Amino acid sequence: MNDLSKYYSPRDFRKTPELKRKQKGKPSDRLSFVIQCHQARHLHYDMRLERDGVLKSWAIPKEPPTKAGIKRLAVETEDHPLDYQDFEGEIPEGLYGAGEVKIWDKGSYLPIEWKKDLIVFEISAQRLEGTFCLVKLKPKEHKDKNWLFFKKKR
Ligand code: MN
Repeated sequence: MNDLSKYYSPRDFRKTPELKRKQKGKPSDRLSFVIQCHQARHLHYDMRLERDGVLKSWAIPKEPPTKAGIKRLAVETEDHPLDYQDFEGEIPEGLYGAGEVKIWDKGSYLPIEWKKDLIVFEISAQRLEGTFCLVKLKPKEHKDKNWLFFKKKR
């Protein structure tokens, strides 16, 4: 893992013209990772991975896998803005996504492989830690966006 802290700490970026941030706007190669627990009509977990300036999102109907051997369905949903990763609160009755949203896990991830139907990534968060995979299931219908989410055995 990169460690840029020794680069950042002695520099005053209000004064020096040196590079302050990498292009992605983060002080390392690690990207934002969050899972929000969403008590909507059905309780589910919204996993979001920072990519290309947005949060790629999946809804997981059951508790995300904290250890290897558990496979979870993860349904791809719409991209969310980056700042959404900090959102917690109550979406009022009658509105889209009504219900309480709480952060269930938060940290960073490192993409190892990102393909159309396979994403392998290293999560470093509180509850989830290690190498995880998202594998896209063959769609039965065109609109299907079902993936399997699981932790890799070492
Ligand atoms: Mn949701």
